[in-house]
Parts: sequence; C-alpha cells; structure tokens
Amino acid sequence: MKEINWSDLSFGYMKTDYNVRCYYRNGQWTDPEISDSEYISIHIAATCLHYGQEAFEGLKAFKGKDGKIRIFRMRENALRLQSSCRGIMMQELPTALFEQAVVEAIKRNRSYIPPYESGASLYIRPLLLGTSAQVGVKQADEYMFLVFVTPVGPYFKEGFKTTPVVIFRQFDRAAPLGTGTYKIGGNYAASLVAGDKAHAMGYSSVLYLDAKEKKYIDECGPANFFGIKNNTYITPESTSILPSITNKSLMQLAEAMGMKVERRRVPLEELATFEEAGMCGTAAVISPIQRIDDVEEDKSYIFSADGKPGAVSVKLYNELRAIQYGEKEDLYGWTTIVDF
Ligand SMILES: *Cc1c(COP(=O)(O)O)cnc(C)c1O
Repeated sequence: MKEINWSDLSFGYMKTDYNVRCYYRNGQWTDPEISDSEYISIHIAATCLHYGQEAFEGLKAFKGKDGKIRIFRMRENALRLQSSCRGIMMQELPTALFEQAVVEAIKRNRSYIPPYESGASLYIRPLLLGTSAQVGVKQADEYMFLVFVTPVGPYFKEGFKTTPVVIFRQFDRAAPLGTGTYKIGGNYAASLVAGDKAHAMGYSSVLYLDAKEKKYIDECGPANFFGIKNNTYITPESTSILPSITNKSLMQLAEAMGMKVERRRVPLEELATFEEAGMCGTAAVISPIQRIDDVEEDKSYIFSADGKPGAVSVKLYNELRAIQYGEKEDLYGWTTIVDF
C-alpha cells in the first residue's frame, strides 16, 4: 500500500484493497464474499442500468482518540436501505447481513482508516443493484449488494465555515408522491443540472422548494435543511425529502440541550425569521448557511454577516463529532465498535 497523506484527503474515491459482495439468487442472499477488484460484471439488460433499480447508502467509521474504530448508526442505514428497496421493488437485504458486510469491509481495509488526529474518516458506500435481465419494465429477480470504503478528508479543512445557497423554481429534485424519500441514484441524476448551475453561480447547493406549490422548504440536493430560532430546531416535514440520519441525530441532541424541536412544514417566508440555518448529512454533519438567495424573486435571506457559523450550529456540530470520535460518551447507543 502506498503512503497516504491524510491531511490532503478530499471527498473523493481512493482505491482500497477489498470490497464485499453478496448476491440474491434463487430466492436467497449469499454470504458476503471478498473481492479485490474495483469492477463488477453485469448483464447488459440488467434493470439497474435501464430502469434505475439502484439504491445506495453512505455512512462513516471514525478512529477515536482511544484508538477504537466506531461506526456511526449503521443499523439506521440498513433500515433505510430496506425502505429504498420497498420503494423501487428491489429485494430487501436483511439488517444482519448489511451490518456483517459493512464490518467486513472496514476490517479488510484497516490501513485506510485515517488516524484520529487527521480529522478524516472512512466513508462507507453500500450499493444495491438489480442485476437480472429484463427488457420489459419489471423488477429484477436477481440482485447484487456491495460495500466499498474510501478514506475521506475532514469536510471543513479551513475550519467550520458557512457557504451561500440558492433557490431555483425551474427545477425539482423529486415529486411529492415520487421517490424523494428513497436514497436512489435517480434522485441524484434529477439534481445534476440544477447543482451544476448553482456551482457555476458560486453557490455550494440548491435549496429545493416543495414541487407542487413552491411554498415550502424541502431540502438541499444531498442534505436536509434546518433553521434555528428562539431556542428551537426547526426542520421541514415533507413527502419528498430523504430522512437524514444526521438530522435525526441532531434533533435528539438539540432536545438534550434543552431546545425545542419542530418537524413541520416550513413556509419559504419563515426563512426571514431564522437566526441560523444549515444543511446536514453524513459528509459534513452540519454545513452552516451564510445566506440563501432567492434569485428569481431577487431576495436574500442572510444568516451570517461575517461568514462565521452561529453558536447553536457550532455546539450541535461539536457534540455530534465528539460522539463519533469517542470523545464523549455515547448515551444513545449510536456507535458500533469494530473488534479487530
Ligand atoms: C443521504 C442524503 C441526505 C443525508 O442523509 P444522512 O443520513 O444524514 O447522510 C440528505 N438528503 C438526501 C437527498 C440524501 O440522499
């Protein structure tokens, strides 16, 4: 293995030694197999290629100050993948098999787990694909599940900082009764054009409004949205957003800190009343928002005049990171320690 410069890592793919694979054939899942190939061989008519039978997950493992490796809320990811499977008619993977494959992928790539001091972590990417041939629109009867890992750098290299976000009305990510609540590639394909336009304009993300009325806040492309005001953590309730495990965790932490938590529809105008706003997800935990520009309405909602994140966002971010790195006691049973 080549030397890795841990402080140079970004959020990208790096080859590791092994990945783990399970197959659903003849009505059952096989035990996990270890592969040293970065490639898969699948049928040209596989349903994942033509009809989008593809779902994925994203989670992380962290090396703590105590040298222990902790996986954050793995079970939640297993359950969410099962929900995605029900959403697009794929074979559900049992929770125990998901957990076994994730742990195996970590163990087999031990030397790629970044040291505690680097602030980096091991990103884990489970993927489930429909693999059998269909030309008519129909679900597959064979599936492949795989898990690969890749070390990723700390999201905030120059410290925890805010970025600007934009609202567009001419793009929707997901329909109200569509597939927005599932973690599937199709939702990401649908967000690429808007994301590219936002980046070209200097924004870090698009904040989507509800597709039907364009009156309420939905979420950002790959992250949930929250606002803070009057000691309250407020996050949208919607039938087209992905249930973020980070958001769920932050709600619990906010409550434990004595804040009120509200999960409800958030009207666009309410943005003007928030003291802080942020995006949340596995990649960054919290990515605080500097301002939201509603370019079509020529309106800006500013949360940070000096570019610094708000006090509540900082506190929530530090609290969650401390649990992930084993610096604070995990009172919630969120972490799984990997036994080598
Ligand atoms: C994965 C994802 C998130 C974040 O979920 P976490 O479980 O917190 O990583 C938010 N929105 C979308 C659309 C996602 O796919």
